[in-house]
Amino acid sequence: MGTPPTPAQAGSYSFSLEQTIGDAPVPVRWSPCRPIHYVTDPTGAPDDFAVHLQAVLAEVSAATGLRFVNDGLTTEAADMDRPAFLPELYGDRWAPVLIRFAPEADVAYLAGDVVGVASPTHTIDPTTGRAHLVTGVVYLETELTSVEPASEAGPAYTEVLRHELGHLVGLGHVDAPTEAMHPSVSGATAYQSGDLAGLAVLGQGPCAPGL
Ligand SMILES: [Zn+2]
Repeated sequence: MGTPPTPAQAGSYSFSLEQTIGDAPVPVRWSPCRPIHYVTDPTGAPDDFAVHLQAVLAEVSAATGLRFVNDGLTTEAADMDRPAFLPELYGDRWAPVLIRFAPEADVAYLAGDVVGVASPTHTIDPTTGRAHLVTGVVYLETELTSVEPASEAGPAYTEVLRHELGHLVGLGHVDAPTEAMHPSVSGATAYQSGDLAGLAVLGQGPCAPGL
């Protein structure tokens, strides 16, 4: 999901959502002053999912400075309209990000060639008037678990995970075919120069004291 692709040269990046602050477009970001909590549902996931998820989250942390906190396992179904608050499951706070595999029968967006989706939720901090990302979902197509890896860098789904976690923290698509944020499989086994430049900007947002 995201905006139309931007310039094709390597080193480019885009943001999936921007707001106007003053007269300038500014990306909608997570507050860097609190960690991003997440939960996983292991249903349909390979045994090594937790290990590879932590590794890719560490890449995002290194590139953004944002911290992730694992709130453990859950049994939530994949829902593109997941509420931002689920107090009966998680108490009086923003629901943690839900990361899981899902069959395309459960998530219409994963039909056809689409193998992953990320949808962060944003809201306005009433104390500053700025929009921030506060929760979200990341779903990987279950069929990915049976795809042969193209490299020795890890299972095939890690590349999709890297792309979708880029969206989760606010990156959009680029036309540059070697970047992880190219809309189709790029073969990138790590974030590339444009991805990294965009991720650095996404980690430098203001705090959101009112959220
Ligand atoms: Zn994408």
